[in-house]
Amino acid sequence: MKIERIETFLIRLPLKSPYETSGSRETHQTRVIARVESGGVVGWGESVAPETPWYSGETPETVWWLLDAIAIPRILAADLSGPDDTSRVLGWIKDHRMAKATLEMAIWDVFAKTANVPLAALLGGTRDRILCGVAIGIQPSVDALLDKIAMELEGGYQRVKVKIKPGWDLQIAEAIRKRFPELPFQLDANSAYTLEAIPLFKRIDATAPLLVEQPLAEDDIIDHATLQKAIRTPVCLDESIHSAEDTRKAIEIGATRVINIKAGRVGGLTESKKIHDVCEQNQIPVWCGGMLEMGIGRAANVHLASLPNFRLPGDVSASARYFETEIIGEPFTVEKDGTMKVPTGPGIGVTVLEKDIRKMALQTKEYRA
Ligand code: MG
Repeated sequence: MKIERIETFLIRLPLKSPYETSGSRETHQTRVIARVESGGVVGWGESVAPETPWYSGETPETVWWLLDAIAIPRILAADLSGPDDTSRVLGWIKDHRMAKATLEMAIWDVFAKTANVPLAALLGGTRDRILCGVAIGIQPSVDALLDKIAMELEGGYQRVKVKIKPGWDLQIAEAIRKRFPELPFQLDANSAYTLEAIPLFKRIDATAPLLVEQPLAEDDIIDHATLQKAIRTPVCLDESIHSAEDTRKAIEIGATRVINIKAGRVGGLTESKKIHDVCEQNQIPVWCGGMLEMGIGRAANVHLASLPNFRLPGDVSASARYFETEIIGEPFTVEKDGTMKVPTGPGIGVTVLEKDIRKMALQTKEYRA
């Protein structure tokens, strides 16, 4: 397949409420949207790089630059034998995984639409509904957090994930367990701790969270193995995992018992599938992480999470939770049983509001083969 035309759009939308983690406080999300055309078929991709480089080194500006200067010219010059072939063309580029994933997502969408099948089918998905969880940022008080959890549970979510940071950890795990004795909840530290926190995590064990996500530094799977040996709660890796190779090594040394897969973090859907498969072969469950996606990225996540080893509820929540404005015509909703339907139309299976995207774009650029 030859990609004939690509357009990129930079859009920025306000969040309904600020989102705070151990490393950030965000009020808006800025995204690069890629529109890719081949043979009259249009595919869409959305970047997930946050506004500042707190999660990885990427930002919307670095995504724009990589696509503009390096990735788009290569893709327009290539002949792609299938969506996995994108990694042959872009795989030599070090880092910049969120940028590569933006373009790759749009190319997967084009291939699925050309074959007239849902993206899930092309990826090998087996579920028609995915398991939904919700991620809650750091709140002004413990009571505010508990009330927010109660509200989300009413919305149908099957599990709750709470961001933690030093000073906002053990007491909130204890408060959650006390108020919600049966609730499956998990904690996400975004690398805020060191091995000095082993005694703290041992105390957190008593509150029986489902898992603790990325407690230690991104580049330290060895210390994660040490921590995992010392505590009962399963360690889940997020920021540390960039590839199927990282995954294999982390599993081999006992650094992780669960993996959070985010296509943006690992360079796209092809690498996500490989990570899924490595985990499945090692009986390690995976779940689909979230980066406060708008509709296009959210749709891709829903299709990805339909693969069989996505056995734990992910951070794929309803569209309405984050933004007042949506860029797709069929916002995602959560059913009463805490699941979300996988779209059945071709490709990502949602109508992209192209006119709105064009109108709100802060920056656009067009490229032709
Ligand atoms: Mg995380």
